[in-house]
Amino acid sequence: MTINPQAEGLSHAIGAGAPPVPEGTIGAWLDRAAERFGTRDALVAPWQDVRWSWAELRERTDALARGFAGLGLSTGDRVGICSPNCAEWVLTQLATARLGLVLVSINPAYRTHELGHALRLAGVRAIVTATRFKTSDYVGMLAELMPAAGGDGPAPLFDPALPDLRHVIEIGGATATARIGFDSLLLAEGAMAEGHRGPPPLHADQAINIQFTSGTTGAPKGATLSHRNLLHNAASAAAGMRLGPDDRLCIPVPLYHCFGMVLGVLVCLTSGAAMVFPGPSFDAGDVLKTVEAERCTGLHGVPTMFLAVLDHPDFGATDLSSLRTGIAAGALCPAAMMRRMIDDMNLTDITIGYGMTETSPLSTQTSPDADLETRTETVGTMIPHFEGRVIDGDGNFVPLGTPGEYCSRGPGVMLGYWNQPEATAAAIRDGWMHSGDLATMDEAGRIRIVGRIKDMIIRGGENIYPAEVEAFLATHPAVADAAVFGIPCERFGEQVCAWVRVRQAAEVEAEEIMAWCKGRISHHKVPARVRVVEAFPMTVTGKVHKFAMRDVEVEGGETG
Ligand code: AMP
Repeated sequence: MTINPQAEGLSHAIGAGAPPVPEGTIGAWLDRAAERFGTRDALVAPWQDVRWSWAELRERTDALARGFAGLGLSTGDRVGICSPNCAEWVLTQLATARLGLVLVSINPAYRTHELGHALRLAGVRAIVTATRFKTSDYVGMLAELMPAAGGDGPAPLFDPALPDLRHVIEIGGATATARIGFDSLLLAEGAMAEGHRGPPPLHADQAINIQFTSGTTGAPKGATLSHRNLLHNAASAAAGMRLGPDDRLCIPVPLYHCFGMVLGVLVCLTSGAAMVFPGPSFDAGDVLKTVEAERCTGLHGVPTMFLAVLDHPDFGATDLSSLRTGIAAGALCPAAMMRRMIDDMNLTDITIGYGMTETSPLSTQTSPDADLETRTETVGTMIPHFEGRVIDGDGNFVPLGTPGEYCSRGPGVMLGYWNQPEATAAAIRDGWMHSGDLATMDEAGRIRIVGRIKDMIIRGGENIYPAEVEAFLATHPAVADAAVFGIPCERFGEQVCAWVRVRQAAEVEAEEIMAWCKGRISHHKVPARVRVVEAFPMTVTGKVHKFAMRDVEVEGGETG
């Protein structure tokens, strides 16, 4: 007997069949863009004085691909990138895809503990790195991770602490640790002749990107994505925003996340829109200046970014009349904020997107043509070629309107977690990616995100997994055990709070623990509040009772 869940009033929906899933590789799409949009703006980064056309972007990408090939890197090798947004990031993304290298996207907020884990997990062979940004000294961190890799000259590095890492390529120069300057790679000759852009065979289903995420459990894993995964998402998001070659998309979201590299860079590559970067990392003032100066028609952001732009002192004096569209995603987008964006920022066609890294990232999006309620109070309907369902704890479809776990299936679902088949099998069952998010579906197939099953904190659009921070805190010599949870915070939505139990006879102050975290883990994961306790409240089933701890903290007042 065939079951038709929709006919039975069950939560199951399938997206449209058009536009078609893009064929081919990212390299082939770059060729197409260079041929179709030649001299039009492709990439603008005003603080770097960069304004490249599609033809120039292809030329530089090919030069870098030749440089990578000249280092002996070949299809399947992992190349890490650790940098805030910049033109070199985009070149590295495209040149690695061109050669079939696997780009390993590293959050530039990472500190040594996290950076070492990422490089080891993915077996990174070469890393492209910024020298420093804000308080992070990347070259210094790499030197700390590779204490034995001394010496001069361009010979590959070797340090048993990171045995796969052989090349450090520094953006803007070559210091003693890096030894290879990014720009010198652009001058490399040979290796890849015209008409032979990448060693064949490259195919659309091959892995080209690893992004770190924790999925429904706390340990960071490498979501592995293919050309097809990423191009499908980009093409459908571009269609969802009605984006074309006359558009100019302002991208303040980070490139290390799918939001920047797929919904930014590849959306532009597939639609011909210009990518405009307002700065190396988000700054509301830079966004306002850049949208006005570059006459941007599109703007992306997580809710915290849009709120910061709306509340910026220069907001009223800035001409935003060129704006029309964009994507708000990453965390729940409050309806009132969406209305302000439509009314006060001229974002008449703004869309909400929902998804996760493991689905490249979007699986739902609102349509600019939908009614205001749909556009402000739901995360939309399934994107083309994607199928969604909402299930109960036994894996059965729940009736329409009933909350359950949201799962999705389609061409954006990742190949798997890098070298972690068990974790992959737990997350993807029969092709369905399990989100760990609680959702409802209505009769029109509209999805509302109503909660989370997974233990996760979203602080200003950055996901933080309590289990990861707990494991890290437990490495402090005085800490026996830690419980980490989110507490409400007006500025960031949520903020990190930790309760720690100390070892017998050990003495430690909350402030000491917070200070110890700084520099070891990313700033956004450092608990804003720590409480040292003798015992944790427990549930009757013997689990640590985080709700009880949260109640204690919330009654004590909000964090800033
Ligand atoms: P990431 O893997 O970093 O893309 O984070 C994915 C998670 O962010 C999802 O599983 C959701 O919990 C959350 N998320 C993303 N977009 C939205 C949205 N529009 N509304 C609510 N939550 C969202």
